[in-house]
Order: sequence, then structure tokens, then C-alpha cells
Amino acid sequence: MQHFQHYIGGRFANGAAQFPSTDPATGEIWAMMPEAREADVNAAVDAAHSAFVSPEWADMTATGRGKLLQRLADLVAENAPKLAQLETRDTGKIIRETSAQIAYVADYYRYYAGLADKIEGAHLPIDKPDMEVWLRREPVGVVAAVVPWNSQLFLSAVKIGPALAAGCCVVLKVSEQAPAPMLEFARIFDQAGFPPGVLNIITGFGPTCGSVLTSHPKVDHVAFTGGPETARHIVRNSAENLASTSLELGGKSPFIVFEDADIESAVNAQVSGIFAASGQSCVAGSRLIISNKIKDAFLTRLKEKAEAVIIGDPNDMATEIGPLCTQAQIQTATDIIAASENAGASVITGGRPVAIRGNYFPPTIIDCSDTPDAPCLTQEFFGPVLSVVGFDTEADALRIANDTAYGLASGVFTRDLTRAHRMIRKIRAGIVWINTYRAVSPIAPFGGHGLSGHGREGGIQAALDYTKVKTVWLRTSDAPIPDPFIMR
Ligand code: NAD
Repeated sequence: MQHFQHYIGGRFANGAAQFPSTDPATGEIWAMMPEAREADVNAAVDAAHSAFVSPEWADMTATGRGKLLQRLADLVAENAPKLAQLETRDTGKIIRETSAQIAYVADYYRYYAGLADKIEGAHLPIDKPDMEVWLRREPVGVVAAVVPWNSQLFLSAVKIGPALAAGCCVVLKVSEQAPAPMLEFARIFDQAGFPPGVLNIITGFGPTCGSVLTSHPKVDHVAFTGGPETARHIVRNSAENLASTSLELGGKSPFIVFEDADIESAVNAQVSGIFAASGQSCVAGSRLIISNKIKDAFLTRLKEKAEAVIIGDPNDMATEIGPLCTQAQIQTATDIIAASENAGASVITGGRPVAIRGNYFPPTIIDCSDTPDAPCLTQEFFGPVLSVVGFDTEADALRIANDTAYGLASGVFTRDLTRAHRMIRKIRAGIVWINTYRAVSPIAPFGGHGLSGHGREGGIQAALDYTKVKTVWLRTSDAPIPDPFIMR
């Protein structure tokens, strides 16, 4: 049995209590995790706050911060195989994906290492002859980062990277579902040479840990990734400390295929969009909106691919679908599919849990063309479950795509360039992928609107979002200040 610890103020510490973590592939408890409660959260925030005002960090040059982030990037790359194994063990995500994804996470730290000394202020051409006015970009302060269990190394990197590049200090609250890889990441971070308290990593439960953290008076910004219901709690919590928030939430993303698309390519992208990561992805293309002219041919090919997917041990490089992270997700998927069938939707393949030990659910395709209110078409949930709707015209495709309260990602498959441009303009989503899907990069902003949240992660803007602007006025005249009763 392995035991993990928190990382607070540059030291490893046990929490107020411990809780077990289950291996989703076997259902067995494999590790004990530390549980942070109020005193641990306070210690972590105090450590971040002390680091933020300490000369070691506050007076470090931006170039110095960049060098430390570069060292962290190298350490993440060196330790990627170990982190990938732990992520697979604790979440059930296949090793094929965790290995590739964590190796790429190093590039996110590299990107923000390079950006640290390019976060510039500005000089203003002010409308007064005897004044110099300029803007300084200063770090926003102590950041509470709260992440879910899926892709947590990646979801943490897009917060830690820009926040530290900007000069903030961070308390990262990792999901209680599978905290092992981020608690191990703390050991790697510790070797990079940052002053103690610049990053603190804890885990625990929503009401006793997450809530205390996000309402803490010394927290200046909350960066959250998770579900919309938790986001509502976070926003209510921020009424206590008036912290700014950025929210990366879920989606019910449309994947639109026109009749002129390259079918084989679109089928593969759809497999990647909903079956990869067992559909446990915020950007999952969970609504296939398909031209009725090719619907039957497309679904026949997709069904063949779905039924050929290799389901099994996530530690095996050949496996394409591993277990879902929790047993509760199996129940949710089963219930939503049953309710959708009751509403008239028809299951084309899958639909019931796989009868082997562990949290396995097969690739599932459900035709909802005649049931626009079927729960599988409207509710976000994690699982390899694709809901399908046919369309006749481009206007129909757009109407169906935008008929959602979410707005995170979207995909359009067409060879018609002018149609692609019309769709790009009119789709309500933070990301539009044309003839591709599920591509990400540290250079490209990522985020949504509506129920999918607000704020962007990745790219230059993410680093700017961890800064606040200070306006500086400097009078250049030696003459006495004129009439003091007039504001000018
Ligand atoms: P969740 O909202 O249940 O939990 C996310 C985190 O919030 C966890 O660390 C949890 O402990 C914490 N939390 C729970 N209650 C809290 C409270 N009251 N105060 C503060 N923190 C609290 O999400 P989940 O089920 O772990 O993850 C799945 C969700 O995350 C899905 O909706 C998915 O789409 C979304 N997601 C979004 C993105 C994105 O970038 N847009 C990426 C991955 C996942």
C-alpha cells in the first residue's frame, strides 16, 4: 500500500486524516491519500501568502522565474514515464495516452518559462504635457487552483505555468478522485529550486477543503476546472473574498459532418472525439450531427470501429479503452442511456457496462434523431457515449449545434471552404476544429462560454490573466502644483 503526502511551504506533510484511493481497473484499494481540512488549507494559503511577499520570490526577476520554470519543464520530461504510470494506476486512463500527454505537459511549462520575461507593461501617450504615465503588470497574488481528476497534469500545468510566470503563488487543490500523480508531481517540483511556498499541493473533499480554500480571505484569484454545479459553489464562495475567477467547465460539444467530408478521416476523428479517454474529456465531441445523405454509411463505418476497439487493462500499450475512473460514472451512463431509450432513442451499439471486473463501459452509439430532448443529447456526463442527430440543411446543422447551454468545443467536417467559414462565424463555442478534433497546444487559448465557463487557458492571454495593471503617474515639472481644488 502506497502513502502520499501534501506539499505545503516546501515540506511534505500528512493531512488531518487519510482516505483510500481505488484502482479503477481492479476495484481494489491501492493507496492512502492525505485529506486536507481547514487547518491544512489555512497552512497552505499562509505558505503561499508568505512566499508571495518574501524577497526571495517578490524580488526575483522575471527571467529568474523563467529559468526555474525551464528547470521544472526538464524535470517533468525526465519523470514523465513515472507520472504516467501513476496517473494510469489512479484514474484508469490508458498508458498510451497518459505517456504521450505528460511528455507534452513539459512543453507547456517550457512555453510559460519563455513567456515569463515577455509579460510587458505599457507607456501611455498621456494628454498632459508634464506627466509620464505607464502601466506595470503585477502578479495578481495568491491563486487557488482547483482541478478535476481527468488530465490533471495538463489541467494543472495550464494554471501553474502562467501563474508562476506572472509571479503569483499557488495553492493547488487536486481532486479527491485520483490525486496520486499530482502529489508525486510535488516531489518533482520540489527539485526545481523554487522558494518554499510558491506552489503548495493539497487534496481533500469539496465542502471541507475546496470550499475553505476558494473562500479564503488571502486568496486573490480562483482558477477552477470542473463541472458547472461545483462552479456555482466556487462563484458563491468568491463572494467571501471577492477573488476573481476563471472557470473551465464541461461541454456537450457538436461534431458536425457534411456530406462532402472525407468520411474515413471524420470517422477517425469522431472515434478520437468520444471514445478516446473513454469519453472522459471536457471537449468530448458527444453530439454527432450528421448529414442525412451519408448518415447510414457513416454510422455503419463508425459502428465497425467502435466494436473493434480494444477494451482492457489500461497499463497495456495495446489497450484503447480503459475503465472509467469511478463506479458512479458507470451508474450515471447506464441511467442516462436507459432514460434516453425510454424517450425513444435507439442504441446502435454498446449501452450496457462490460461484464468484467473494473469500471468498464463499451463504446456506445445512440440515435436520437427523433428525440431532441433525450437526456444523453442534453446532459453532460463522462463516458464513451455518442448521441447522433441527422440533418438535411446547413441551417439545420447550425441550429442543432447551437441548441445547448454549453459552448466549449466544436468540430466541422467539410471540404467546402466557404461553408467552413460560415460555420466558424456562427457556431457558439470557444474552440472550432475544422477537419480535425481534440488538438491542443500551449500556444493556443482554450476555454468556452455559457455553461462551459469563462476565461482562457493556454497562450499569452492566460499569463496576462494572472496579472493586474498598476497605473503610475510621474510629474516631470518642477513648477509648483497649480490650483489644488481642481482635479485634472
Ligand atoms: P467536479 O466539479 O466534481 O470537481 C472538480 C474539483 O472541484 C475537485 O477537485 C473537487 O474536489 C472540487 N470541488 C467539489 N466541490 C467543491 C466546492 N464546493 N468548493 C470548491 N471545490 C470543490 O468535477 P469532476 O467530476 O471531478 O470532473 C468532471 C468535470 O470537469 C466535467 O464537467 C468536465 O467536463 C469538467 N472538465 C472541464 C475541463 C475544461 O478544461 N473545460 C477539463 C476537464 C474536465
